[in-house]
Amino acid sequence: MKNGHEEPYAHASYRIAGPTHIAFSGGRTSAYMLYHILAAHDGKLPSDVVVSFQNTGREMPETLDFVADCARHWSVPITWLERDSDDDRGFRTVGHNDAARNGEPFQRLVEERGYLPNAVARFCTAELKVRVAKRYMLSLGYSHWTSVLGLRADEAKRVARACAPTKERWQNHCPLADAGITKRQISAFWKRQTFDLRLANVEGKTPLGNCDGCFLKSEKTLAALIRDFPERAQWWLDVESGVRTRGRASRFNKNFALADLASFVDRQGDWVFDQEDALCDAPHGFCE
Ligand code: SF4
Repeated sequence: MKNGHEEPYAHASYRIAGPTHIAFSGGRTSAYMLYHILAAHDGKLPSDVVVSFQNTGREMPETLDFVADCARHWSVPITWLERDSDDDRGFRTVGHNDAARNGEPFQRLVEERGYLPNAVARFCTAELKVRVAKRYMLSLGYSHWTSVLGLRADEAKRVARACAPTKERWQNHCPLADAGITKRQISAFWKRQTFDLRLANVEGKTPLGNCDGCFLKSEKTLAALIRDFPERAQWWLDVESGVRTRGRASRFNKNFALADLASFVDRQGDWVFDQEDALCDAPHGFCE
């Protein structure tokens, strides 16, 4: 294989034509997808295929390192973007050194909106990721394009939703789903690589992936963040306590206030993590 690519990449879905945006989340799945798209193009993307990573400011440092590692190991340009309402384009380009690490783009968005995102009003995804990528593609002069998403074959509902016709300027394409790739193959792939995302892989999921305290994560995952990374959890506690909607305390999570969860973890100690029913382990969706 050329350019150090050792994996088979036979599926036609990895071959990309025309103006295309590859949404790189900084997780193992989208990195696997990027690797195979690269391999299908002999290690070099066509000039009208661009890859970007939208930084919310709440990614774990390991995720930022992984994005930089993928670019370096695979010699692929990945543009780092952050929402910036002071910039005429609505975004700014950053890099590993100057990327926001304390939630600045996220906090600014919440301040501008005056209320918190939650599982049914995920304006953080829309504003910090989807619209930033759209503005970036427009800034490059593209009017219509394909958006390549890292959704797997074992995420059929998400794939069906993503690939339905849209009124947007882009049509989504999910090559991993087309190629029948599931969590199992992605985990096996990363075991064979010389580098990896240095965040725990728990049955094919990365509890600390995406925004560290995302409200779509389960109560149990958020409780673990509070216990293991109290200084990172504090950002979410501070933002939640600083926003009031129509005079009332606002919450990221419908079922609990983060301050109450933090207090519960503090009072109860480690046993709640071992007790099956003490904390709910059901997530509330996915960040696109
Ligand atoms: S990971 Fe969660 S908090 Fe972050 S942008 Fe996505 S939905 Fe919002």
